[in-house]
Amino acid sequence: MPFSTQQVRLTLLALLSAALVAGCTVDARVPAPDPADGPAVESPAAVEPEPEPEPEPATGKTGGAEPSGEDEVQLVADPTAIDVLVNKRYALPPDYVPPDLVEPNVRFIFDEWHERRLMRAEAAAALEEMFAAAEEDGIYLAGVSGYRSYEYQEMLYTSYVSTDGPELADRYSARPGHSEHQTGLAMDVSGSTGECAAEECFAGTPEAEWLAAHAHEFGFIIRYPEGKEHITGYMYEPWHVRYLGKDLARAVYESGLTYEEYVQRHR
Ligand SMILES: [Zn+2]
Repeated sequence: MPFSTQQVRLTLLALLSAALVAGCTVDARVPAPDPADGPAVESPAAVEPEPEPEPEPATGKTGGAEPSGEDEVQLVADPTAIDVLVNKRYALPPDYVPPDLVEPNVRFIFDEWHERRLMRAEAAAALEEMFAAAEEDGIYLAGVSGYRSYEYQEMLYTSYVSTDGPELADRYSARPGHSEHQTGLAMDVSGSTGECAAEECFAGTPEAEWLAAHAHEFGFIIRYPEGKEHITGYMYEPWHVRYLGKDLARAVYESGLTYEEYVQRHR
């Protein structure tokens, strides 16, 4: 393949930037991706691969009714729950907008206002706390992408599909309604330079290693660990942190499980 997936995505994003009005663009300063092979670090939550469990909802947290088919998509029961499980099976309503979106007072890799700056209030406060603690360790983090509306995710996914086809796009991009970013509880994080932002080359950086070691202390988990695509449905994303609250994030971290597995075992 002449170009990596990331390169194709970057090219597409550049085209999108050119096509959209200011304020709706993606960041044009994201540098070219590193063509190096896959990620170089092990997630602390990594465990030996095992057969894919059937993701099941936690009582009261996701769909209430038993699924009638293994692959049937269900709407989550309570989109506002901090511990809501959203993935390829459990979706948010198209019209769901988190009730308490705010802009965390942290560094971003882009300057303009965009909905991607937003998170739910509790998650935003935790992100501020985490970034401040990282700076005390000499690690300067920046926000890349937080909240995404259903419509914005739909535009992104549609664009990725037109470039890569649905099979490949589904490995790195959520379909609208299925993105954790619509919960307002997720943030893609990079170093302050924006280098390797949301790209494979972020793996192994000091910032990625700091996040892997400390995110749970502030209520976040690395949501898509390495080697777990068969469970989470997505490639390794060392930059994507999901807020669960400190107690639950620590429990998931210490379990070494993906959130899908954790919910299944603790519902
Ligand atoms: Zn993300």
